[in-house]
Amino acid sequence: MKDRTQESNRALKNRLLKAIRRGEVHHGYLVEAPKTVDKIAFVKWFITNMVCTEGGEEACGRCDQCQSIRHDRHLDLTHIRATVEKNAKVASVKDEEIHRLQERLAMAPAQGERNYAIIEDADLLTVKAMNRFLKTLEEPLPGTVIFLLSTNRWGLPATIQSRCVPLVLEKEENQKPKKNWGRSLFKSLMAKQPYYQLNGIIKNMPKEREALLLMLDQLEEALEEKLTDSFQDPGRERIFAWIEEVEKTRKVLLGNGNMTYAIKHMTLTMRRES
Ligand SMILES: [Zn+2]
Repeated sequence: MKDRTQESNRALKNRLLKAIRRGEVHHGYLVEAPKTVDKIAFVKWFITNMVCTEGGEEACGRCDQCQSIRHDRHLDLTHIRATVEKNAKVASVKDEEIHRLQERLAMAPAQGERNYAIIEDADLLTVKAMNRFLKTLEEPLPGTVIFLLSTNRWGLPATIQSRCVPLVLEKEENQKPKKNWGRSLFKSLMAKQPYYQLNGIIKNMPKEREALLLMLDQLEEALEEKLTDSFQDPGRERIFAWIEEVEKTRKVLLGNGNMTYAIKHMTLTMRRES
């Protein structure tokens, strides 16, 4: 059987290749995918298709242009990620970084025809950085292509979302985990099980950051399904509050916080609100 999810990303890729050929590349893209999907690889695939000098159906991946994009040493590519300040618990994309980006985008491309920017963790822009960045999106310089990466595009302000083309990536089939820890936790919470049972689930979870982030994705997915299933359910407020807790916990995990403590704290808070 053919893998439906890979096919779906394939369809998206074909759509983008067509847009490049027609010269219809947008100035802002919002790339959304779960934590486990390699969004950067996807974006770099997109960029190489605009810079590759070898021609053919798709970028060759071998020429100078392709290689320098892949290894982050292309002069026209600015790559920004969230960082954690000393003593800070959560990571954020700083205003200085966006300022630096704007200065770079104001200059002509040095190696090719366009300037590119990748902003990882777009949901972690500080308010100041977000406001500054909005100006860049509102008055895009010709030939600029900006990619905002996020695990949840709805977490971004509407003003940002409305100025970007959303590219929603799907999970590849082989990345799907055997045990869905997030859903186990969800079921236990919905059943209002006592805390010691919830704690039993937490104890058995794998403790690596990636696995815990995936667990949060799964938990959030289950919560969002619950929202869609029960449109008039009076319990919706509670689900919204829980999703907020998941988002808070995600930020701790992305920063330097104690991960197990954060998960336990989240579960306790949710249990209390149930
Ligand atoms: Zn190439």
